[in-house]
Amino acid sequence: MDCVKMQEAAEYNMKMHPMWQGPLAVPGGDRQSPIDIVVRKSVFDSKLKPLETEYDPQTCQQIWNNGYSFLVEYDDTTDKSTLKGGPLQDKFRLCQFHFHWGESNAWGSEHTVDRRLFPAELHLVHWNSDKYSLFEEAVMEDNGLAVIGVFLKVGKRHEGLQKLVDALPAIRHKDSIVEFTRFDPGCLLPANTDDYWTYHGSLTTPPLTESVTWIVMKQHIEVSHDQLAVFRSLLFTSAEEEVQKSMVNNFRVQQPLRGRTVRSSFTPFLQEAPPAEGHQH
Ligand SMILES: [Zn+2]
Repeated sequence: MDCVKMQEAAEYNMKMHPMWQGPLAVPGGDRQSPIDIVVRKSVFDSKLKPLETEYDPQTCQQIWNNGYSFLVEYDDTTDKSTLKGGPLQDKFRLCQFHFHWGESNAWGSEHTVDRRLFPAELHLVHWNSDKYSLFEEAVMEDNGLAVIGVFLKVGKRHEGLQKLVDALPAIRHKDSIVEFTRFDPGCLLPANTDDYWTYHGSLTTPPLTESVTWIVMKQHIEVSHDQLAVFRSLLFTSAEEEVQKSMVNNFRVQQPLRGRTVRSSFTPFLQEAPPAEGHQH
């Protein structure tokens, strides 16, 4: 039941939201995102290294309500905040992070794990600064982007996130932007970043280009219901619009895997929660 409502909500947004209007709304590729990660079908790859993030909080510049999510933007004119290692051969620069979330805690994430939905998902967006000179160039190219995905679960209040939550009322409406500085995005990563899934996919918002190496964290982070409620108090609409619309359900519907392999950096046989049924070890 929840799943049907969730699909309807996502499809409604894709039909109605201005971001999805226009020529790029219908992608043709075989490497689209997001996907459902089927744990028993993911392939352990011992060559996958730990992630190496080096984030300089001084590169944090502003928060912007772009009418679909809020973007925390970083100065990406130098290699001060970077990601390397993991499945990546090159060095990638952080340019922004944002979230996707639902109208309730029952759904909201873009990726799912064995069909499990999370109330929200964080995306840290990086572009390949070894190969390209601008985000705009990298976004169109193979191996141009690396996005870290982190699931959010409702539980304890997240102290690191609170500084961000406190800034959100200032960017309630679409197109509002405020200065936001010295925020360390590393505080939003889970304690264990060694365990992740990785696959080749796309952006989940237009232009939907298939330039993304996805790195989806196995471990989630916890945020409080009240913190997520502040996300939901944002608006898709600008101050001038007559009918105001809450910013919720800003996730894309799931896309077919189409023969792609999801690799894992950890062996599924050592998971904390053993698989339920149908497994013989
Ligand atoms: Zn995203």
